Amino acid sequence: MRCILLLLDGLGDRSHSLLNGRTPLQAAHTPNLDKIASLGMNGLFHAHLQGTALPSELAHFLMFGYRLEEFPGRGVVEALGEELDIREGDVALLARIFSVTQERERLILTHENPELDRESCRMLHGAIQNFSSHGIEAEFLPTKGIGGILRLRGDVSKYLTDSNPIIEGRPLMEVLPLNAVQDDLRARSTARFLNDYLRWSYLTLSAHPLNRERMNKGLPPINAVGTQRAGMLGSLPTFTDQWGLKGLLIASGAVYHGLGRIVGMETRKVRDSADPGGDLRERLKMAYQAREFDFIHVHTKATDEAGHTRDPLVKKRVIEELDRALDYALTEIIPDEEILFIVTADHSTASSGAMIHTGESVPLVMTGKYIRRDAVAKFDEVSCAAGGLSLVRGKELMYLILNFLDRGKLWGLMDSPDDQPFTPGISTALRVD
Ligand SMILES: [Zn+2]
Repeated sequence: MRCILLLLDGLGDRSHSLLNGRTPLQAAHTPNLDKIASLGMNGLFHAHLQGTALPSELAHFLMFGYRLEEFPGRGVVEALGEELDIREGDVALLARIFSVTQERERLILTHENPELDRESCRMLHGAIQNFSSHGIEAEFLPTKGIGGILRLRGDVSKYLTDSNPIIEGRPLMEVLPLNAVQDDLRARSTARFLNDYLRWSYLTLSAHPLNRERMNKGLPPINAVGTQRAGMLGSLPTFTDQWGLKGLLIASGAVYHGLGRIVGMETRKVRDSADPGGDLRERLKMAYQAREFDFIHVHTKATDEAGHTRDPLVKKRVIEELDRALDYALTEIIPDEEILFIVTADHSTASSGAMIHTGESVPLVMTGKYIRRDAVAKFDEVSCAAGGLSLVRGKELMYLILNFLDRGKLWGLMDSPDDQPFTPGISTALRVD
């Protein structure tokens, strides 16, 4: 048997008065998702602990059965997804250029996400690309728009606070070593270096002719760099080593491609069109045809992006568009007895409130020949709570997948030197002469 997991990114939401006290998923007309719920075993899922708001890459990492402490950081994941030069021992930070105004000695963030054409981005990124001091080298590696990865190379530490306050009106923050490693000289020197880079970038960008031109036109200058989420590339066991499953990831975003590289899953890079339903149907077909894989992760970002519009009606409409693509799952995938088909999400992205993502659990349904069918007939955050899976957290999802693929090991048996959770393990035959 093989597993196809459909991930509707950021699907979970909150109740909205605009939707008569329902979530966008509850309010949406989703005959296909509801049919899948009625055929399956339902529950709720949280990749970590209920109430914790997770970014996508971390939620995916935990969902694939890895531990929080093993996570290499968003900067590293994105850099690998963009195929940038990141090596073991490098620190990678998410970075962007944006607008600040100086008030006394502080730099107040005024525009976190300014609009800037490609050529101007290239020129400003070029001005702050390389900086070195005390044996540490910084390089700003542009990715999309104003964004990029700041790579630090040398005797560097990842245990650093962020400089980007994200919220406009707040001051750019001094980079500090984390309390947990306060006495670590490397963390202290990396923090000092990064603060020097941020000050130098501010002076360099402020004096840039392009910013003078912008100010003459009455536009705010794009004059500072902000960094966040420092991380470092280390070595990890592959998904196949951990779970005995050959994995494939089908997604459009670079961060998911990077994640695939980190956990050793093969990746199909697909593109998003203006038709998320059509895109999803194509991805499901691709997944169904990929018979050489045991675990196929099919991803769509459309639901998360709809949540970020903060308009629950937009999210409801996107959910309905995606639901239409699921007739393919109902006619082709689910009737196939050799497939465990799962629909869930990585986290909630509420269409209300101030948080970027939110900490509520998300609905989960599993269909396949070995599941225990329950009485749930509607796929949403409330109905699924009454299902047979109850609340599934973190690594439990992968254990359940092995179980419903009929490949879980009886705990305590040791058929390989690693205490792997799948059967059969990678055993060695006894030889006789
Ligand atoms: Zn997400």
